[in-house]
This record gives sequence, structure tokens and C-alpha cells, in this order.
Amino acid sequence: MRTSRAVAAHAFLSRPRPLLIGGRFTAAAAGRTFTTVDPSTGEALAEVAHAGPEDVEAAVAAARAALDGAWGRLPAAERGRLLTRLADLVEEHAGELAELESLDAGKPISRTRTLDVPAAAAQFRYFGGWPTKIEGETIPVAVPDTLCHTRKEPVGVCAQIVPWNFPLLMASWKLGTALAAGCTVVLKPAQQTPLSTLRLAELIMEAGFPDGTVNVLTGDGRTGAALVDHPGIDKIAFTGSTAVGREIGAKAGARFQRVTLELGGKSPNIVLPDADLDAAIAGAAEGIFFNTGQACNAASRLYAHRDVFDQVVEGVRERARTARVGPALDPATEYGPLVSAEQYRRVRGHLLDGIAEGATLRAGEVPPAEPEGGYFVRPALFTDVTADMRICRREIFGPVLVAAPFDTVDEAVRLANDTEYGLAAGVWTRSLGAAHAVAARLKAGSVYLNTWAPGDPAAPFGGLKASGVGREMGRAGLDAYLEPKTVWTSLAP
Ligand code: NAD
Repeated sequence: MRTSRAVAAHAFLSRPRPLLIGGRFTAAAAGRTFTTVDPSTGEALAEVAHAGPEDVEAAVAAARAALDGAWGRLPAAERGRLLTRLADLVEEHAGELAELESLDAGKPISRTRTLDVPAAAAQFRYFGGWPTKIEGETIPVAVPDTLCHTRKEPVGVCAQIVPWNFPLLMASWKLGTALAAGCTVVLKPAQQTPLSTLRLAELIMEAGFPDGTVNVLTGDGRTGAALVDHPGIDKIAFTGSTAVGREIGAKAGARFQRVTLELGGKSPNIVLPDADLDAAIAGAAEGIFFNTGQACNAASRLYAHRDVFDQVVEGVRERARTARVGPALDPATEYGPLVSAEQYRRVRGHLLDGIAEGATLRAGEVPPAEPEGGYFVRPALFTDVTADMRICRREIFGPVLVAAPFDTVDEAVRLANDTEYGLAAGVWTRSLGAAHAVAARLKAGSVYLNTWAPGDPAAPFGGLKASGVGREMGRAGLDAYLEPKTVWTSLAP
């Protein structure tokens, strides 16, 4: 086990990591485990329990018992206090969480320290403020002698399935909202990246959440599917691939379960000719290369006006050429490895596809067929692309940008919207009017004007079309975990 450089995380990595069910840390009922790997080296990091159907059964029962018991009875202010305490604990253990995240997901330590972990704490702190502000309404009905009001009640037991690209942050997005609403949770991290969530599970218990409020089941897609199929689940929240999201959406629909889906994207980034080109180039490069392209809202399609196209392409190419790609724990690393050997092969396949389709690879290279140690792929840029090419249509989820020129704003909008996805889109221009006019025409859940992908717990995030259903974070995210109940009271004497 390669843990020598991971000082803070060392103790956590040295023992097999159990599940959390009903407040107890426990091995999987069938005794199965799996190995999680350091993508910077390809070496084993830790052994983790692999939850099976018996564990799913026990976790759902524990979540139901907590909902009907100690957690369900807790006053709203106390729910808020526990979430705030959890935010404090995440901050207190920030160094260890950042190390675990970097080791397990290959994310640069400079980013996990400054972004992933503080953003996770901010999520719990923001949602810690919500429980005491969840209010129903008094409805002015026309029925005589009658009071009509609504109560906002928690949806119930939630299955939350999380991907590997922002393991701790996605877990905190999902948990913060559900817990603020008063729901209980069975959370399943991705099999590639379970460690930060398992450490978070310990902090959740340390914060004092009642047993069974949060249960954590580690495992692969089979564990996720068993959870989704459990009849005791009231709501499913899933972030991951569009293919699995479609399957989960269909199952949830058939059972009338509530569902939110955060899926893939192929987000367009439009540079108008009057843009601040230095800012646009930096934003275009970081928009796709950030997290080694493994972001659902990655700016993976670049459309620059023909007058500035060569300059923008040259700027992004230079940025790709000089990017510091390296192991996640190296403080100088800007972009780490891809998360897994599987993702490495997938992204490599997309690069080969682009070349075979006739696009020109202006930056980056096709890596060796099999990774040599870590799963590194350098930032890549294709030009001479056409809209029908697979590299322009499919989500690559790697550091691969396609760039094409346009002549008119109408053409840019048409190209941008010509996708099955609708997660994010960007516009770079000095004209406030043009920025807002184009933003209004883009079919996307988030639009970034002269920036790419800032985020805040108060701002909703989610997509249209094949990018998903519903929103996370902010008031809209909270509403997805609440059911309004309409109560009618006769005031007749
Ligand atoms: P995935 O959708 O298979 O996995 C995401 C999560 O869902 C994991 O926790 C996984 O264990 C679980 N899961 C898998 N199959 C399931 C099932 N049938 N029922 C319930 N849960 C299930 O994603 P992946 O295979 O790890 O990655 C494939 C592609 O998905 C990537 O290349 C990328 O395009 C996309 N992706 C998108 C996001 C995002 O943020 N939208 C995140 C990760 C991956």
C-alpha cells in the first residue's frame, strides 16, 4: 500500500474500511471487499467493504427507523445545529480529507485543499441555516369557514448515488440538502473513490447525528442497483452517466419514486469577436482541462468567431502545452491523472476516434495503449471538426476540447444548442446586451457570462434534456427533498 507521502491520511488507509449502517461501522454481511487504487500510481490504496443485498436491506431499515424515530422527532433548530457541527468537523479535518481525496481520485492537492474540501464544508454550513426556514403557506381559499395551509414534510428515505469526479463535494451536495429537509439517507459513493466519504461518515457520527440518519454503502453498480430497486426508498438522487441515469429514471417512474438526476454534458463555450481574449482563452482552457476534464459541466466545445478563432486556438494550445500534469500529491500539479484505467482507455479511444474522423490534433497526444503507472492524459485540442463527428457529440469526460469557428451569432447559438445535452454554456463578450441576449437563447441549466463554472451552495445546479432532471443546491435543491401537504381545517362554529 503506497501511503508514504500521505501523512494525515496514513492511519485511515492502514485498516480495511467498513460500511456505516444504523450508526455502526461494520464489514459487509457477506464479508466481501474491494481494492481502491491510487490513479497517480496505479497502486492499491485501501481495502473497502463491498455491500451486498443484505447490507442494502439493513441500511434501508435503519434509515426508516431513524426517520420514524430519533431523527424524525428532532426539532428543526437541532437539525441545523448538527449540520453546522459537521461543517466545523470537515474544516477541522480538512488536511486529511484533502489528502484522501487526492490519493483516491487523483485530484491535485492544490485543488482539494482550496476547492473540494472548503466547498463541502460550505455546503453543510449553508444547509445548516435552512431547517428553521422551511415554512408552509396559508392559502386564501374561497371555501367558507375554512383554513387551508401547507406543511413541508421530508420526502422520506433517500438513496443517494454519487460519482467519482468530485466524491466529497457530491456527497456533501446530496447530504446537506436531504438532511436539512429532514430526510434520512443511504449514500453510495463510487467504487473508484469511496475513501473521503467513508471518513466523512465518521465525522457524521462524531457530530452526533442519530444512528441510521446517514448510512454509507460502498460498492459498485450492483450495490447501486440493489439500492434503487429497494421498495423502501422514497427518493433517488443520482449523479453519473446518462446511460445509468436513464435506467434509474425509468425505474423510479414506474414506482412513482421521487427522482433527481444530474447527468452528462457537452457544454458549449462561445467567444464573440469583442471578447477580452486573454480572459476568454484562460476560461476556455480551464473550463475543459479543470479536473482533467472530468466534470459534468466541462466546457468541451469551443466556438470562437472566425475573426478571433486562430488567436483563441493558439492561446488554448499554448496553455495545453505548458499545463503541469502530474501526481495528485505534488503541490505543483495543475492537472492530475484520470480516475481509473477504464477512464484512461475510454478517453484514449475518443482521441483515436477524433483522429480517425479527420479532425486535427493541435495539442496533446494519444497516450500508450496501457497506462504506465498513473493514468495520465495530457490536455488535448482538436480543430477541423464538424458537428456530426463523435468527438463533437459524445461526452468524453477527459481533457479533450473540440474547437470550431462561426460567422454569425445565430450560427453560434445553433451550434451550441445542437446537442442532446443541456447542462451548461458560456459566452465571452464585452457587450452586456449581447451576453444576455445569447444567454437567453442557450438551452442549458447554467449559463456563464465572461466566466466558467463558479458555484455556491445557494445557487441551483442541474440540467435540461439528457443532462438530467431537477436541481441540486439552493432553495430549488431543498424543495426536491420536501413534499407539500395541504391541510384543510373547518372553522365552522
Ligand atoms: P456510472 O454512471 O456507471 O457511475 C456513477 C455511480 O452510479 C457510481 O456510484 C456507480 O457505482 C453507480 N452505478 C452504476 N451503475 C448503476 C446502476 N445500474 N444502478 C445504480 N447505480 C449504479 O458512471 P461511470 O461508469 O463511472 O462513468 C461513465 C461515464 O459517466 C463517464 O465517462 C462520464 O461520461 C459519465 N460521468 C458523469 C458524471 C457526472 O458528474 N455527470 C460523473 C461520473 C461519470
